[in-house]
Parts: sequence; structure tokens; C-alpha cells
Amino acid sequence: MNVVIASSEVFPFSKTGGLADVAGALPKALAQNGLNISVFSPLYKTVDRSSLTIVSNVEVDFNHTKTSINLYETQQNNCTFYFIENQNYYNRDYLYGIGAQDYEDNALRFGFFSKAVLDSLKTLNIIPDILHTNDWQSALINVYLKVFYKNIFTKTKTVFTIHNLGYQGIFDKNYMNNLELPWELFTIDGLEYYDKINFLKGGIVFADAVTTVSKTYALEIQTPEFGFGLDGLLKKFSYKLSGIVNGIDVDVWDPKSDKFIDYNFNNPKDKIKNKNALQKLLGLPIKEVPVFGVVSRLAAQKGMDIFSSSVKELLESNTNVQFIILGSGEKDIEDQLSQLASQYKDKISLNLKFDEPLAHKIYASSDFFVMPSKYEPCGLGQMIAYRYGTLPIVRATGGLKDTVKNYSNRSKNPTGFVFEKYDSKELTKTIKKAIELFNKKDELLKIAQYVMSLDYSWKNQAKEYIKLYKKIYGYR
Ligand code: ADP
Repeated sequence: MNVVIASSEVFPFSKTGGLADVAGALPKALAQNGLNISVFSPLYKTVDRSSLTIVSNVEVDFNHTKTSINLYETQQNNCTFYFIENQNYYNRDYLYGIGAQDYEDNALRFGFFSKAVLDSLKTLNIIPDILHTNDWQSALINVYLKVFYKNIFTKTKTVFTIHNLGYQGIFDKNYMNNLELPWELFTIDGLEYYDKINFLKGGIVFADAVTTVSKTYALEIQTPEFGFGLDGLLKKFSYKLSGIVNGIDVDVWDPKSDKFIDYNFNNPKDKIKNKNALQKLLGLPIKEVPVFGVVSRLAAQKGMDIFSSSVKELLESNTNVQFIILGSGEKDIEDQLSQLASQYKDKISLNLKFDEPLAHKIYASSDFFVMPSKYEPCGLGQMIAYRYGTLPIVRATGGLKDTVKNYSNRSKNPTGFVFEKYDSKELTKTIKKAIELFNKKDELLKIAQYVMSLDYSWKNQAKEYIKLYKKIYGYR
């Protein structure tokens, strides 16, 4: 089976979040099952080009002009990774914009990407069985394919995965002209959304199958609370919508061989060495206190507003803890946390940046990993935390609900802490329960050992995608 995956970010070449992890690891797992996999993404300025070679020159027909581009290629994990070059669109410091401010021409940048993927396939003579697109940035591929390329890709079926419904790619309707999209599509049943173009909606309407990244989130997005205005549409298309929970790349996230952590380990008893090394690195007092780690976009979606209130409350009541926080994002949240960090230098290490090595160190060194999301399509942090014997503290939503089992006196095989209500007081209470567990060393160790043994690799999850590919392709 010939599968082409398009994604606006792919680990290890480019990354802002979980989409990159998925687009890097799922192809590898699919290839291990014997599928023939190609992955397309933009050639951003930040992509390491040392292993890339130019494989072809492609003429992309976009915005009423023909642009000749170089298509780069590299082989990795038995998959072919292709990179679309466009100096004007992708040779910038960031993938989507600066901070919370998106680049103004994102409609064109990702419209171009979508068109370029199809023109590249045409040039390379690849007719995929399955074309798997992801989020709004590659959603228009589904539209272009059915509008302009039907005669070339006659047998190709499409899968569109929603990694986060909160980001839809909504732009002024005048872009219909630049994107060369026929105005007949600008209707309530097509691309129109409150008199604007909605790229993600195009993906949902035009794809043969739509997936999202957990079973709970697949249900949640059909309700007004989580539907971001598209719940009605998703309900209408529920016959082609399903949820497949993400896995993680267990080779990238492996405490036994991780190159970014100070001490490799196989037993959570040995985490303490990493903890002390990280405390030293970040200028925190080196001592045995419960360490709560956060590696996250600092966004309200991630629950970072209730988190900062909760941190304030805990530190004002002089709780003996340390918080190690890595991430950047919304300014008000950055400001609240910065103020706390300057006030409680001995208890908070705040790192407002994207830093892959530091992320690994935090997963390995923390006792608990905090993810109090308002909504969470899947979430990878909780599964990565498991790998390193770190217990997640999560809110019961989306993929977090599907992957974390609450610790209580009665629960069997708990894996972390789960709270229900989106409220800082609830989070504070839950963090206090975690501190209580921290003081029962043997019990904590047992649970940490148990979570390290859980299998959240892509091995099983890739099989779910293969089942879906086969179903829509009509294989028996
Ligand atoms: P998202 O909604 O941001 O995609 P996920 O939990 O699905 O959230 O995935 C987040 C991924 O991005 C994880 O691999 C996490 O370790 C990583 N990550 C998030 N913020 C940072 C950061 N500031 N530095 C390094 N890695 C980060």
C-alpha cells in the first residue's frame, strides 16, 4: 500500500508541538508494517539540510503563476521525506508566526504547500492509494485533489486528521481568488464559514475519512462545548469520523538511551540523579522535594491560566515544592508566571523558550508532570512522562481522560492524578494529593515502575490507521 502523508511539521526536521512527533513517528511504524510511505512538509529555514538532496524540480501552479521549486528528499526509517522549497514562504525564523502572532500570508503559505504536494506527486509519478493530510495547513489538499486532480489520482482515497480543532485556518474570502478555488465551493456545505474561508472545514468536507487523535475527543468535538463552531458539521459527517489515539516514538523517548539526559536509567529509583543535575543546571536548591514539571505551550487551552493561579496559591502557603516550567506562548500567562518566578526564585525555574534537550531533562527529572488542559485532543506529554517514570497530573478531558487512570485509595493500577472541574482550586487539591504520595516513597516508586512498563508506542496504534486505510481503499 502506497501512503503519502502531508504535514506542516515533522520531527526531527521541524517542530512546534505534537503534530511533529506524530508525523515523525507514525510513518516509521507504518513502514515497519510493510507500507510504502512518503512524507511531505515545507523546507523551513530551520530544517537541517545536511542529509537532504534535490530529487526533482517541480512546477507549482498556484496563485495564477507557475513557480519552479526544488523538491528535496531524504530517507529515514524506511520512509522517504520530501521537502517543498519556497524561499519567499518558508525561509523565515518561525513556522507559523512570531509568538501568538501568525504570519499574515499563512493562507498563501499553506495553500501553496497543498498545491505543491499534489504537483510534486504528479511530477514524481506517484499515485498514492492513501493521501493522509493533517490539520488546516494541509487540509486544502483534500479540496484541490477533488477539484483539479481527480483525473490523475483516480484511485487515491483521502484521510484527514484533526490534531486540534481550535486552529482552523480561517481567512478572508478574497483569498478564494489567490487560491484559485471556484466560488461554487464558497457555501455553507463547502469552504464558507461566517463569510470567510475555513481550510479545516474543507478538509472535513472533502476527505473520504476524518480522524482525530483520541476516542473521547472524537465525541467531544461533536458538542458545542468543544466543537469550535464546527460541531454541527462534524455531527453531520460522524459516519466518516473516528478517533485513533496517538502513540509516542519510544526510541526518541527512552530513559535507557536518551542522549539529552544526564544519567540513563531503567529504574525510577535512579531518577534522583537527573533531578539533582537539573536542579543544579537551573539554579534551584539541590534537595529532595517533589518536583512538578511542565513542558507545554503556555496557552489557556493547556490550562496554564489555572496552573499559574494554583502555583501562586501553593507558594503563598509556603508549600515545599519545586516547579520546573518550559514553554512559551500567550503573553498574559508568560507575565503571570514570570512574576511568580521572580518572587519565588528557589521554587520556580521558568524557561520561556522551545528547547528539545531541556524538555527531555524535565520529563526524566520530575516526580510529576502537570497537564491541566481545558481541552486536549490527545496530549503526548502524559505518555512521554510515563516512559520516564513520572506521574502525570491531568484534567479529565479528551486524550488525557483516555490515557490516565486516577490514583485513589480504591483504584487499581493508577497511573497518575485526574481531576474533573476546570478550576485552580481543584488543581491545587490534586497537587497536594501528589505531594502526599511523594511522601509515601515505596508506593510512589511502585506506581512509577508500573507506568514505565506501559506500552504507548505506535506499534498498536499504527495498526488502527492501517485498518482504516484498508477500509476506505476497499481492500479486503
Ligand atoms: P500540542 O497541543 O502542543 O501539540 P502535545 O502534548 O500533543 O501538545 O505535544 C507537545 C509536544 O511538544 C511534546 O513532544 C512536548 O514535549 C513538546 N513541547 C512543547 N513545548 C515545548 C518546549 N517549549 N520545548 C520543547 N518541547 C516542547
